[in-house]
Amino acid sequence: MQPTTHCPVAIIGGGIAGLSAAWYLQKAGIDYALLEQDARWGGKICTETVNGYSDAAFVVEGGPDSFITQKPWGAALARELGLGEMLIGANEQLKQTYVLNKGKATPLPDGVLMIVPTKFKPFIFSPLISPWGKLRMGMDLFIPRRKDAGDETLAEFVRRRLGSEALDKIAEPLMSGIYNAEADKQSVLATFPRFRELEQKYGSLTKGMLASQRARQQSAAMTTSNNKLLSFFVTPKAGVGAMVDALRRQLTGELRLGAGVVALEPIAGGYRLHLTTGDSLDAGQVILATPAFATGALLRPLAPDAADLLDGIRYVSTGTISLAFRSVDAPNPLHGYGLVIPMSERRPINAITLNSVKFAHRAPDGHLLLRAFFGGSRSPQSMELDDAALYATVRRELDALLGIAAEPLFHRIYRWRRSNPQYDVGHLERVAAIERALPPGVHVAGSAYRGVGIPDCVKSALDAVGRVAA
Ligand SMILES: Cc1cc2nc3c(=O)[nH]c(=O)nc-3n(C[C@H](O)[C@H](O)[C@H](O)COP(=O)(O)OP(=O)(O)OC[C@H]3O[C@@H](n4cnc5c(N)ncnc54)[C@H](O)[C@@H]3O)c2cc1C
Repeated sequence: MQPTTHCPVAIIGGGIAGLSAAWYLQKAGIDYALLEQDARWGGKICTETVNGYSDAAFVVEGGPDSFITQKPWGAALARELGLGEMLIGANEQLKQTYVLNKGKATPLPDGVLMIVPTKFKPFIFSPLISPWGKLRMGMDLFIPRRKDAGDETLAEFVRRRLGSEALDKIAEPLMSGIYNAEADKQSVLATFPRFRELEQKYGSLTKGMLASQRARQQSAAMTTSNNKLLSFFVTPKAGVGAMVDALRRQLTGELRLGAGVVALEPIAGGYRLHLTTGDSLDAGQVILATPAFATGALLRPLAPDAADLLDGIRYVSTGTISLAFRSVDAPNPLHGYGLVIPMSERRPINAITLNSVKFAHRAPDGHLLLRAFFGGSRSPQSMELDDAALYATVRRELDALLGIAAEPLFHRIYRWRRSNPQYDVGHLERVAAIERALPPGVHVAGSAYRGVGIPDCVKSALDAVGRVAA
C-alpha cells in the first residue's frame, strides 16, 4: 500500500469538463488534484497535426472540431486562457449545408433556420421537400400550441408542428445528428428546449424563428463588426486541442495522468480515492467529470440510487475518419461545408464535413481535408468494421456521394466507444434526480447531464465549482 495524500477537492476525469473544473477551482483559490486514467488530457478532444505533405500542416480533429458561441462558456474560457485572438469563425461565404436526398446532395434551402423556413422563395423552389411536405410545414402557423409542459421526443414535436417530411429530411439528420441521437427517443426539452419556448411564446415555430431572427439582426447591427463574435461556430486556429494544451500549461494544481480512480471510500471529512497506481488520495469534496457509466460504477457502493439513475443514461459509440486530398483530385465536391445524411437513406456513414472549407488553417493551400462520421444508431455496423474495411467503405461513399474517387494522401480513423450520452425523453428529470441522490460533497460535471457540447461541459464545470465553493 502506497502513501495517501490529501487535498481539498479531487476532480476525476481529465476531459474538457474536468480540466475546466480545475481551472475554475484555481481561479477561486481552491487547491485541487485532477486525476485522469488515460495517458493524455482532453478526453474526446483530440487534435492531431499532420506534416510532410506541403509547407503547412493539416489539422485533423478526432473529436470536436469547433464549438458554438450562442452558448458563451466555451468562448469565454478560451478568452480567459489567452486564446481569444486565436479563435477563428467558420467560413461565412460557404456555410451552405447539403442534405442527401435519394442519393443526391441537395442544398438545404436558404433561410431554413434550424428546421424552420424563414425565406419563402428558396423554400418553395427547393427539391428537398415535396409540395405536400411544404404545405404541411406551413401549417405550423395555424396549429395550436401544446398545452402542458411535459417532455416529448423530437420526432413527436416535429411531426406535430411541421410534419413527417420535415422530420425525415431536416430535423432528423440535422438536429438528431448533432446528438447522434434517435429522434424517436430524443428528449426535446433536454436537447432543443428553445423549440418549445418559441412554440409557447409565439404559438408557432415559424413566427418564433422570424421574431428571434429579427432580434438577432438588430443586436448584431449594434455590436462590433468583429466576425469572430458573430460567427456561430468558432475554433482555435491550431485546433480544439489548443484549449486542452492551454489549460494543461496554466493549471498549477496536482495533475496526474495514468491515475484511474477505482473506488471512492467515505472517510471522516470526505472521501478516500483508490487509484489504479496502488496509492490513494484523500479529498474533502469530489467532482466526478467522468462518463455517466463510470460515475455510476464509482458511486454504487455509496449511493446505489444515484448509480441506478446514472446507469440509465444510454451511450452509443461513434467514430470519425478524416481524409486528405490534393484539391485537383477532389475539385469542388460541394459549395458548402457539409452533407448530412437522413437515416432513411440507409448509408454506412452519417455525415461528411469539409473541414478545410468550413475553417481556415485546416489544410495547406491547394488541399482538401474532409471527414466522415459513422456509428451511433444510424450506422452501428460501420463501428464494427476493421480499419481496412471501414476505409474502403468510406472511399466508396465519397465516390458515390461527392464524386471523389482519388486516393487520399493520408487518412486517420478515430473510434470513440460508449462516447455519446443519449438524452432520452425524461432526461432532465433523471438528471435532477441524480443530483438529489448524490452523497454530500460529491458533484458531477460533463456531457452526460445538461448538454453535450464543449460550452455545456465548461458550464457544467463552472456550476460544479460553484457548488463546491458553496
Ligand atoms: C466524434 C465527436 C465529435 C464531436 N464534435 C463536437 C463538436 O464539434 N462541438 C462540440 O461542442 N462538441 C462535440 N462533441 C462532444 C464533446 O466533444 C464532448 O461532449 C465533450 O468533449 C465531453 O467532455 P467531458 O469532459 O464531459 O468527457 P470526456 O471527454 O469523455 O472526458 C472524461 C474523461 O474521464 C476519464 N475517466 C473515465 N473514468 C475515469 C476514472 N475512473 N478515473 C479517472 N479518469 C477517468 C476518461 O478517460 C476521459 O478522459 C463531439 C464528440 C464526439 C465523440
